[in-house]
Amino acid sequence: MGIYGFVRVLAFFTLLSIPVLDVVAKVRIVSSIPNLASIAEEIGGRRVEVKSLAKGYQDPHFVDPKPSFVLELNRADLLLYNGLDLEVAWLPVLITGARNSKILPGALGHLDCSTLISNILEVPTTRIDRSMGDIHPFGNPHYTLDPRNGIPIAEGIAERLRQIDPNNASFYEERLRGFQERLAAKIKEWEERLAPYRGTEIVTYHKSWVYFSNWAGFKEVGYVEPKPGIPPSPSYVAELIGKIREKKVKLVIAEPYYPHKTPAVVAEKAGASFLVLPSSVGAHEGIDTYFDLFEVIVDEVVSILGREGKDN
Ligand SMILES: [Zn+2]
Repeated sequence: MGIYGFVRVLAFFTLLSIPVLDVVAKVRIVSSIPNLASIAEEIGGRRVEVKSLAKGYQDPHFVDPKPSFVLELNRADLLLYNGLDLEVAWLPVLITGARNSKILPGALGHLDCSTLISNILEVPTTRIDRSMGDIHPFGNPHYTLDPRNGIPIAEGIAERLRQIDPNNASFYEERLRGFQERLAAKIKEWEERLAPYRGTEIVTYHKSWVYFSNWAGFKEVGYVEPKPGIPPSPSYVAELIGKIREKKVKLVIAEPYYPHKTPAVVAEKAGASFLVLPSSVGAHEGIDTYFDLFEVIVDEVVSILGREGKDN
């Protein structure tokens, strides 16, 4: 094609207002979980194409790997994952299968987001053997449930995007600033709404909420699972009910993908409320962003605890 042909094609795209260069230059980001994907979308905007392998309604510890995941990873420029063994049951084998040197450990396109978090909770002091069933061997991996952790995660993602796509460094920088400002303002608002309920004692199904509780000022007094990943025995459940009664626990929380029967019975027998709470973007309709997620969590928690207050 001669130069005039090229100009004509360019004029054609301009007429359709298709940003020609954007189509070519998008950075392909694949995230293991939706919460990280949402933050990447906030930072990358139209310069990136983001896919999450796990869906928000799935347990991130146990995701059924699909052949399409390998294809996505093969085409990726940047892989984001949670780390701390959250995805160890399904992601490493996919990374190997993808045969993409850009996303291998040590490469610019390989980002373990747990390395961005300075205060990992529940880091064991002695080595935990996975064969004993505990699926949190390096500390609690559910750090995206403290919205304050969205700030360093966004910084880390922006930094990688600037390195992978240096021509658009200032674009990412600007979006990072915008995201951090909006998130900081929202965190303040959510904190104000949660403030009256600081010190509330709760029980959760899995140890997924420790970062959230740490932020909201809730006290976790027990778990339906005796250890992360281990289902409860009847004698353990009986003991837990006794503990909830004694401590006057208000709330029992479980994610949508955990069995609801046991936690609901536990709550009922102990006179607490049972709340199914989303822990992920995409957990159900209307939770499309990291902001939506906390909006829903705070709404639900405040609404149920507010009601409790009136009943007593
Ligand atoms: Zn877990």
